[in-house]
Amino acid sequence: MRPLPILVALLAAAPAALAHDRPIVFPDVDGALTLVVDLHTHSVFSDGNVWPTIRVEEAERDGLDLLAVTEHLEYQPHADDIPHPDRNRSFELASQHAARGGEHPRVIVVNGAEITRKMPPGHANAVFLSDANALLHDDVEDAFAAAHAQGAFVFWNHPMWTGQRADGIAVLTDLHRSLIERGLLQGIEVANGEMVSNEALQIALDHDLTMLGVSDVHGLIDWEAHVHEGDGGHRTVTLVFAAERSAEAVREALFAHRTVAYVGDTLIGRDAMLQPLLAASLTVARVGVRPNSKLVDVTLENQSDATFDLADAGGQHYYEHLTPLRVPAHGTLTFGLAGEARTTFELEFEVLNAVSAPGVHPHLKLAVEVPHD
Ligand code: ZN
Repeated sequence: MRPLPILVALLAAAPAALAHDRPIVFPDVDGALTLVVDLHTHSVFSDGNVWPTIRVEEAERDGLDLLAVTEHLEYQPHADDIPHPDRNRSFELASQHAARGGEHPRVIVVNGAEITRKMPPGHANAVFLSDANALLHDDVEDAFAAAHAQGAFVFWNHPMWTGQRADGIAVLTDLHRSLIERGLLQGIEVANGEMVSNEALQIALDHDLTMLGVSDVHGLIDWEAHVHEGDGGHRTVTLVFAAERSAEAVREALFAHRTVAYVGDTLIGRDAMLQPLLAASLTVARVGVRPNSKLVDVTLENQSDATFDLADAGGQHYYEHLTPLRVPAHGTLTFGLAGEARTTFELEFEVLNAVSAPGVHPHLKLAVEVPHD
């Protein structure tokens, strides 16, 4: 039987990836791979609502390079139904499932645990663990020390969460300061789901902590991150600039602060991390002089998932646009520049959807060469 023509067309157009994939895509930067990482997730092995295999398949659909399994150590509400004395079991199930595709899994799974205490210090994730059971201690500082002994990367979770601070403001305590000074705490969530915090960002800058964005997913990622609502719905993640696609390279980059948090269309990171990402994401694709005028038409191309909003910071005159300019994700924007004839010049934008410090946006400079004929 000959297939119907419409079916032939569908088969021919089918990409290698699964039809339900919606990978989070950012370009690699000069000298490093841009890896998409979620370091905070839950399953039924703590207070989540799905089996660990579902976490893996969600991560594959989202195009994650690395997923950490981080069950609460001290909070196990499903324990009557799913006894799990071994705190590594969730990771084992997830990593076995990730390996079903063979030697090169689509997502790298690493072991972690959420040290779950009252404030201070509140909740903290230890990732790249070899044995989560070793973190079970009465004294919270012993738990941090046990994570450190395994070479774990440890970060402060949702410091702004009203579940632990009714005022919703992240404030560093003496215990946090002490943990940081002793090298037992290296990072902080500046974005947890849709929660973001200027105060957490300032704490990261003041105390040399790695900036992280995480999903902290408990239910289905599609529902929690509104992936089903069309363009732009995605889990909050951390972009990690790593030498290669491996757990060890991600760990190294995390300790070296080479991250940007991606939440909504917002990119949060140190200026030195944002600059290469912006330069790789937004490029000048075409330049031309409009016929019978001195107008220069410039096309910017956006090779990232984030929609960019660009305020003019270089005193340009725009012929048809009011600023800020908007460059859609994986799209282009063409604008005409008015003024005297020019051969080379520089565009400078304040990137409004990127944040390097509270209230501070990075500037992007783009060199423009006008072709002459
Ligand atoms: Zn959590």
